[in-house]
Amino acid sequence: MPITGHTFSRRTFLTSTGLATVALAFRPERAYAQHEGDHLVTMIREGAATTKIEVQSLRGHVSVLMGSGGNIAVLPGGDGKLLIDSGIPGTRTEITKALAAISGDPIKHLINTHWHFDHTDGNEWVHAAGASITAHDNTRKHLSKETRVDDWAFTLPPSPAGAIPTDVFITDRTLHLNGATVQLRHYAPAHTDSDLSVQFVEADVLHAGDTWWNGVYPFIDRSTGGSIDGMIRATEENLARATAKTIIIPGHGPVGDRPQLVEFHDMLTAVRSKIAALKKQGRTQEEVLAAKPTASYDEKWGRLVPPTLFARIVYAGV
Ligand SMILES: [Zn+2]
Repeated sequence: MPITGHTFSRRTFLTSTGLATVALAFRPERAYAQHEGDHLVTMIREGAATTKIEVQSLRGHVSVLMGSGGNIAVLPGGDGKLLIDSGIPGTRTEITKALAAISGDPIKHLINTHWHFDHTDGNEWVHAAGASITAHDNTRKHLSKETRVDDWAFTLPPSPAGAIPTDVFITDRTLHLNGATVQLRHYAPAHTDSDLSVQFVEADVLHAGDTWWNGVYPFIDRSTGGSIDGMIRATEENLARATAKTIIIPGHGPVGDRPQLVEFHDMLTAVRSKIAALKKQGRTQEEVLAAKPTASYDEKWGRLVPPTLFARIVYAGV
């Protein structure tokens, strides 16, 4: 069975998302609270050292490593291993072991789905191990200089030279590696302005980066171009590309499928329209939050990014 299925235990969910494991251990509502974002970034980085990496084999030799920040996809083969995202360096030893168990091929290629630290902090060591780094040009821009994320209340310093993508593009790029066609496409600004989808064409596996958070409210980075409307558009693009057979890797949460992506889309559009209606009535952000517009969704979706943070981000974007 390549996919764990629609149901997953809370424990499985937690261990399959490094972000969740760490954030929940420290109470996410505190972790994500404004002015405490430095705690979040630091906690995720430090917590990675004790996170266990789970490996899930998907299809067409594509595997996914879960537990080091964002989900990492791996395609081994004679051209050298291709990694999609590099996770958090605290899990380097675990990741190295997991990669060695997949195959003996050296690491040669790394693609970043976007610039966020939980997908790029491992860039430096992966590059030092032999990988070239491909990404959207905005990933290169954000990693090259100090970048502030207001909703984390954190300013990321410029990344070390070896961590910066050198193979960048603007709209799309097709790679032919290890017998596979790997199609990269830039989304219009969604979760950030640097998001890419990575499609393993023959295997019919789509890595949607952080345009998809399976089963939880997404974080949306307004500071670098993200918005609720952009997330909805990106989700519609993902739906247009996925068939009933497509295996879809989210940035966070378990590997999933089209019906789960439909649920995510329906949640996003429902919360958006509720909050937009309240804002149209002239309600302030404080009044809208007090009205608990996400209440009926919180039990299912509110386990990682707290409902109030998600509602605040949606309010700002409608
Ligand atoms: Zn992200």
